Amino acid sequence: MKLEGVKFDGRGLVPVVAQDARTGEVLMLAYADRAALERTAATGEAHYYSRSRGELWHKGATSGNTQRVVEMRLDCDGDAVLYRVEPRGPACHTGARSCFFTRLAGEGAAGLGEMLARLSRVISERRRALPEGSYTAELFRGGSGRIAQKVGEEAVETVVAALEGERLEEEAADLLYHLLVLLEDRGVSPDEVARVLDERHR
Ligand code: AMP
Ligand code: ZN
Ligand code: ZN
Repeated sequence: MKLEGVKFDGRGLVPVVAQDARTGEVLMLAYADRAALERTAATGEAHYYSRSRGELWHKGATSGNTQRVVEMRLDCDGDAVLYRVEPRGPACHTGARSCFFTRLAGEGAAGLGEMLARLSRVISERRRALPEGSYTAELFRGGSGRIAQKVGEEAVETVVAALEGERLEEEAADLLYHLLVLLEDRGVSPDEVARVLDERHR
């Protein structure tokens, strides 16, 4: 790996942002020294430099919550690194998926990718637990044929909304939700759909 472009600070460290490669969610900020970057590149496992312990830190070595690094990127002026990761558990030692769960100001809505990922996790959970009073659980109880039919109905409603110039975002949201239910029902991960889209886009 070429590390020439990396500008380490006076302590030999560079800040590293870890991002969920799938959802785009920012997971944590930590620091790396040269050895941590080299180790990460060589193993495909996220390594940092622990400033509190003063040593190389293999993320998840004790908690099991490791991060597979699918890509390492350097920012424009070389003073910050991005790890795009597939997390094998929460990034935060508190058990939160992301360290950034504390809101300081504003209330921006989630982007589409993050929202779909979050929704698909809830849908999987509903299928597993089948709680009373859950519409999603009701869909799974109704069976595969009914779920496929619902996607058809929602698709038609989306087309009608588009033609009539009404409530398109609401119908599109219903369609995406029911499509996620169909994928879950058929055992197709939304990631596989994303992969197909990504390949076509290239
Ligand atoms: P782990 O690397 O996940 O096995 O955690 C080992 C130790 O690293 C924890 O006990 C925490 O002190 C620290 N740690 C883990 N994750 C984070 C994080 N996202 N930010 C800061 N410290 C962390
Ligand atoms: Zn920079
Ligand atoms: Zn944290």
